[in-house]
Amino acid sequence: MHPPGADTVLVRHGDVNTKSNTVKRYMEGILVENIEALLADRSIPGEVERRWNRPLIHTTEAAVEDATAAATDAFGVVSASPSLTVSTEKAAILEALAETARECYDGGTFAVDARRADKSLPYGSEELAREGGTAIWEAVEDEFEPAVDLDDPDLTFGVEVREDSAFVYLENAPGPGGLPLGAQEPVIALISGGIDSPVAAYEIMKRGSPIVPVYVDLGAYGGIDHEARAMETVRTLAQYAPNFDTRVYRIPGGEIVDLLVGEMEQGRMLSLRRFFYRAAETLAERVDAHGIVTGEAVGQKSSQTVQNLGVTSRVTDLPIHRPLLSRDKHDIVAQAREIGTFSQSTIDAGCNRVAPDRVETNARLEPLLEHEPDDLLERAEETAKKAELIEP
Ligand code: ATP
Ligand code: MG
Repeated sequence: MHPPGADTVLVRHGDVNTKSNTVKRYMEGILVENIEALLADRSIPGEVERRWNRPLIHTTEAAVEDATAAATDAFGVVSASPSLTVSTEKAAILEALAETARECYDGGTFAVDARRADKSLPYGSEELAREGGTAIWEAVEDEFEPAVDLDDPDLTFGVEVREDSAFVYLENAPGPGGLPLGAQEPVIALISGGIDSPVAAYEIMKRGSPIVPVYVDLGAYGGIDHEARAMETVRTLAQYAPNFDTRVYRIPGGEIVDLLVGEMEQGRMLSLRRFFYRAAETLAERVDAHGIVTGEAVGQKSSQTVQNLGVTSRVTDLPIHRPLLSRDKHDIVAQAREIGTFSQSTIDAGCNRVAPDRVETNARLEPLLEHEPDDLLERAEETAKKAELIEP
């Protein structure tokens, strides 16, 4: 909901504010570009201006809600408010509150949350909140009995007064927080078509790293349904990053999977993971990526016991980022729904089809290497070089 005449979106960031002035300016510049790209990608009219450490979107009242939604899809944004802009004169602010109350307040309790960035103004924020409350009260008292509740109001009138403008709003729409995409270097995202990996990719994007999505085609064990789901999730992630390249590297892993299934029983899953990581590392060199992100969580699967993660991780010098490390499945599923990557499909993610009857949960590297095909890692590197770049 927005005040009548609201044509501005007030955008707030969080972690960017903790940076030194130079870094902050740099990151704000990236954030502005990303918000502009989100608006353009969704054909939402609007211009982004950077003022007082805070991006503002100037748009139309008709588009102000859509522009707010776009801003809250930008990594780095903590919240955004569709706002009415008025002068910093107290009378103008009180009139804006009264007008907003007449249009939008129709029962229940209310509160005024007033903030003032410019300490040189002739009034304080408490005074503004008090007088604003009276203005709202008087605007509606002929219609119904208003009530103030400062702890848990049904409607909060926000006022933010800056150096040369004041803003009135009714909503603080939450954004993802984090850092603007592009504030960090890219990483390889291993995307499987399951539920976890897109959420993990989203989490590292939220810290500023663009992703280079990699899908390993498992041949007969993967299949078109599996791949289609992986591509669908990348398309969804791409909506958060319209100004970044999110084409997918598809690595043809069918032969290697056949080899592992043919030659190994216990430990097969671990060698499969070693293949993934080494192939990802090879590709990372080519595309100048600086890590690998996966959807692994401690204990979620046999290949994800702490021992097994310890053993498999040793195949690469690159850091393997596991943002879901400590997360419960239930919680990951909830987030997947929220960001739009959840799919109701019950197809078994490919890795499950490769699993042997007896899985290894407590591997050690030396015995694993004895059973693993000697040339596995060389083959992993060769296979990575055959990766195909595709539109998801
Ligand atoms: P997901 O974790 O994506 O929901 P999953 O849990 O079935 O799928 P796991 O077997 O747990 O997959 O795999 C762990 C991680 O390994 C995945 O989160 C993903 O990062 C990576 N991975 C698995 N299979 C593939 C694949 N075919 N291509 C690329 N990455 C994969
Ligand atoms: Mg998983």
